[in-house]
Parts: sequence; C-alpha cells; structure tokens
Amino acid sequence: MDRNTMYKAALDRIEGADAVVIGAGAGLSTSAGFTYSGARFEKYFADMERAYGFHDMYSGGFYNYDSSEKLWGFWCRYIYINRYMDAPKPVYQDIFERVKNKNYFVLTTNVDHCFQKAGFDKERLFYTQGDYGLFQCSQPCHKETYDNEEIITKMVLSEGYEIKDARLVKPKGAVVSMEIPPELVPVCPKCGRPMSMNLRSDCTFVQDAGWYAAAERYERFLRENRNTKTAFVELGVGYNTPGIIKYPFWQMVENNPKASYICINKGEAYAPREIADRSVCIDGDIYDYTDRNED
Ligand SMILES: [Zn+2]
Repeated sequence: MDRNTMYKAALDRIEGADAVVIGAGAGLSTSAGFTYSGARFEKYFADMERAYGFHDMYSGGFYNYDSSEKLWGFWCRYIYINRYMDAPKPVYQDIFERVKNKNYFVLTTNVDHCFQKAGFDKERLFYTQGDYGLFQCSQPCHKETYDNEEIITKMVLSEGYEIKDARLVKPKGAVVSMEIPPELVPVCPKCGRPMSMNLRSDCTFVQDAGWYAAAERYERFLRENRNTKTAFVELGVGYNTPGIIKYPFWQMVENNPKASYICINKGEAYAPREIADRSVCIDGDIYDYTDRNED
C-alpha cells in the first residue's frame, strides 16, 4: 500500500468507528510547528543564547540560572510562546474537524494545551503529564494548582515585550530584559516556597482534583466503549513513555476484536504482529496528512 492509500484506510476506520480514542505525544506538536530550536528559538531567545550559551529551548530549561529573576526571565517567554500562543501550523484544528462529531476522547502526554486551544471539549481530554499553564508549590505543601496566564503575561511585559493579537512581540529596536523584577517571582500562597510548573518531571508532580476527574472520565469512556468498534489513533508517540499510550493501546486493540489501531509517526510507525491485521501504520509527518495539505 502506498502512503495515500494507507491514509485513506486510516480515515475510513475513523469514519466508521463507534468511538475514537486519540493518543498524542510530542511528535504531534512538532508537526504543528512547535519546534524548540532553529528559527523559533532564535526569534525569542537570541539574547539568552549569547548570554548563557544554550542553543535550544529545551537546554534553556536545564540551565543553572544564578537568580530566580533570571530563571523566570527564561521560563516566562518559554511558557508564553509554547502555552499561550497558537501553534504555527493548524494540525490540531484539522484533527478536530475529523472527530468533532464523533464519540471521542483524547489522552496526551503533551503539556502545551494545543487540543483545548483547537476546540476540543475539555471534558474529553486527559493531560496525564501536567500543563505549562499551571503552577504548583515546588515542595509541594498542598495539592492544588494555579492558573498562571495572568502572572506569566505580567512577566513577559516586564521584560519589555508587547502582546499583539495574543502573540509575543519585541518592539522595534527595543532591548528586552532577560530577568523579571523580584516582586513577580511566584511563591506558594500557603508556605512561601518557590512555585514550579505542574509537570511530571519528578516525584513532586501534583495530581490535583482536575487531574483525577479527567483520569476517571477517561476510564469511564474506555469502559463504556469496551466492546464497540473503537479506533485507537496514536499520533506522534515515541518510546520515551510507551507505558502511557502506546502499550495500553496495543493491549486494548488486542482485547477487543472490533477495535483498530492507527499510528502516524515519523520513523516509528509500528504495530505488533498480534494486531497487525487491524492496524494502519503510517511513517511520516502528521502535517502532511492534514486537510490543508491534501494534494
Ligand atoms: Zn507551598
């Protein structure tokens, strides 16, 4: 089968399904243009590259800043552009168009909130690994999370950026600051310790009430559709954390003879032998298969 035939087969499976479970990993946001190096990095972090010597946003997250003001000077730009600005390419919107009238649920390890921004119903989303848009106590002394849009916006404005049409813009000729003023450094409202982002990077990750509610909704969805024609659609999931999406999807497809498995991934599109006859695996960039790219 050539790629287009496979893509058509994948769409037919989704179209004919009673339920669609989407599992999305980092590769999906990459294909939507959320890249962490190159032009996008240069545009917002050229000054920090000169000052600190890192060459991509990912490394910037591990740099040992010598003050909280500098640490948040980096993170506020990072969070603003990766969480509050739209993805450069409309990949998520196109997926939404495919499934919006279906009985669907999304499970994702991405923390950039692209599904919700594209219109997906938040009652049908489970962000297992957290959200850049939430703060928590770094200790943590309590299990609550806090919306950070307002404070992150204040931080980027304090560096000298402007926000136009929800995009971060450097005023012409301006030199932006690489640090924020001390009064904007976020601290826990209960214990006064530093705040951190609500991300599952270590054992301090807070699973708040919203996290448990989403986990429960996902479990219920799977239960209710256990014996139906379910299409498990895996997009851009690599082998970093296969235990969250990839392996459970394989297992559930194997256990339900009516289910099918669709996998689109650059370099790692594969299905085990047991479910191969009900699988469509496409090795490629998801963006190549979206509506605006069908030629
Ligand atoms: Zn605290």
